[in-house]
Amino acid sequence: MIPGADSEAGRALLTGAGLPPGGPSPEPVNAFLIRRGARNWLLDAGCGTVFGPDFGQISAALAAERVTPDQIETVWLTHLHADHAGGLLTAEGRARFTGAELLVQEREAAFWSDEGARSRAPAAMAVFFDTAQAVLAAYAGRVRRVSGGAELAPGVSFLPLPGHTPGHAGVLIEDGPERLLIWGDILHSRVLQMPHPDWTVIWDADPAEAIATRRRILDRAAAEGLDVAGMHLATRGRITRDGSGYLWDVRDPTGSGGASR
Ligand SMILES: [Zn+2]
Repeated sequence: MIPGADSEAGRALLTGAGLPPGGPSPEPVNAFLIRRGARNWLLDAGCGTVFGPDFGQISAALAAERVTPDQIETVWLTHLHADHAGGLLTAEGRARFTGAELLVQEREAAFWSDEGARSRAPAAMAVFFDTAQAVLAAYAGRVRRVSGGAELAPGVSFLPLPGHTPGHAGVLIEDGPERLLIWGDILHSRVLQMPHPDWTVIWDADPAEAIATRRRILDRAAAEGLDVAGMHLATRGRITRDGSGYLWDVRDPTGSGGASR
């Protein structure tokens, strides 16, 4: 999925991480529950049943936090790819979050609703259009389209990060001096793309824009010392510059860390 990895540099990074030289590099698919008092919001919803039985743990993960799907007030979507929106649907294709509003960037909803864009896309993209359109249909009447850095909740706002998809956006959470950026799909492989931010994934809608956005947000995260989490990152961390690439400084909840690629 990352063509740049099919290279000497890519094979060296993968073997250096204890992985087969041709991959794969196993990555998580995360969703985030954000709570304040009795209010519960969800940021993305994972794969649901779209990619088989190893995924689709969102209801079980919420139950472990004693939250039922009907207690979710709003689902904020970084984008409408199936590994982020598929979990909005039950196996029967109905809305899993019966009381929730969906909040998505206007450009994102427009792109996946556009039959012209669908007809121009490669056949492999069909599952993404199918899932996005099924989600928008299942939540019809409670989809709110917003633009730019809209406020999602007190101290929580969208941060547009276009390129991976037209309306791809991260979420910035600010609580006093503490800030956490949940950046969606800025990285699909930390091992490969942190040292090579110019390596794109085949699913990027606009590869040049995806590269520019990735460099811009990595630079900002490094300059501002932001805590970062992502949908395909196994840990929370901070960014430091390293030549033409970046290093990942793992942060656990106790605040300890250590720089690595
Ligand atoms: Zn993704």
